[in-house]
Amino acid sequence: MELYSGYIGKLIEELERLPGIGAKSAQRMAFYLINLPPERVKRLADTMMEARANIRQCSECCNLTDKEVCPICSNTSRDKSVIMVVENTRDLAAYEKTGKYKGVYHVLHGAISPMIGIGPGDIKLKELIVRLEGDVQEVIIATNSSLEGETTAMYISKLVKPTGIKVTRIASGVPVGGDLEYIDEVTLLRALEGRIEL
Ligand code: ZN
Repeated sequence: MELYSGYIGKLIEELERLPGIGAKSAQRMAFYLINLPPERVKRLADTMMEARANIRQCSECCNLTDKEVCPICSNTSRDKSVIMVVENTRDLAAYEKTGKYKGVYHVLHGAISPMIGIGPGDIKLKELIVRLEGDVQEVIIATNSSLEGETTAMYISKLVKPTGIKVTRIASGVPVGGDLEYIDEVTLLRALEGRIEL
């Protein structure tokens, strides 16, 4: 017999599919939601629908944005000749929070992972190559220091090198296997300043 039948069971099941939400959290959230005033639930549902419908990828850097071109790419004071390649928008946000990086980004939306069948064609590499045809002086590879991040870094460095553009990799100091988004700003800046040429 199902512990919770019908609507509540379905709600728990959907919430459990969210990243980082286990069975217990899903139950807690479900009971919280069904006890909220209907207008609060509607506001939450509408916000999710609106975000899903209106957020797209920047036509230049693939960052998530409401507009054709994201605020970073459309900011004329940013140095477009330096491109920092990150795995996802959360990593971009981590570097952006330091307020010290003045170049632009390229968001890959993933990393190469042969183990789970993610190849170079599955992340935003083609879009990066197109950008290299412009006036680019340096590509800073800031993928995570996981196996996937390192594989991706190596792949990008091989792609960029023949163009003659300088390729650098953020320094260690970012712990092995560490997700950029959880690392403090000082460590991030040190990793950026200590980047090494590949
Ligand atoms: Zn952009």
